[in-house]
Amino acid sequence: MIEEQKEAGFHWHVHHSILLEWCYDVKQRVSYIERYKPLHEQATRLHLMKPVKGKLPKLLINAFYAFTKANKEYDEVYNDCFKTCVNYDKLKKYDKLKKYDKECDKAWDICLKALNKCKSVIEKLHAKECLDCSWNGVEIVFQKENK
Ligand SMILES: [Zn+2]
Repeated sequence: MIEEQKEAGFHWHVHHSILLEWCYDVKQRVSYIERYKPLHEQATRLHLMKPVKGKLPKLLINAFYAFTKANKEYDEVYNDCFKTCVNYDKLKKYDKLKKYDKECDKAWDICLKALNKCKSVIEKLHAKECLDCSWNGVEIVFQKENK
């Protein structure tokens, strides 16, 4: 169940080109940003990534729940492959992995459709909850890098 995960939940701006999504592990995402994202983007990213407080449409919650489930199944098979063999494409499980990968893609497409369908509700909530935001409707706009 997604509700049982610690530090997980719907967040604004987990990625710079997605307004809202389910974040599996906030701590992990923060350390990823601090480690891999350009320095001039980090403060903005960390400032804008915050939990959604308001109520979201059921359609959206269900879509992300299905994606989370598909992703978990994929991860289990993936971890299983790498535990047993590094050359995983020779494993019998590789077909299973490909199948789960496709299911993840399908579930993600449904999430994107749900995001699109609920766009006006999400945008209203975003305007209320995410003040001082540089989202331009498509992505976060970052300050220019100081050189
Ligand atoms: Zn915002």
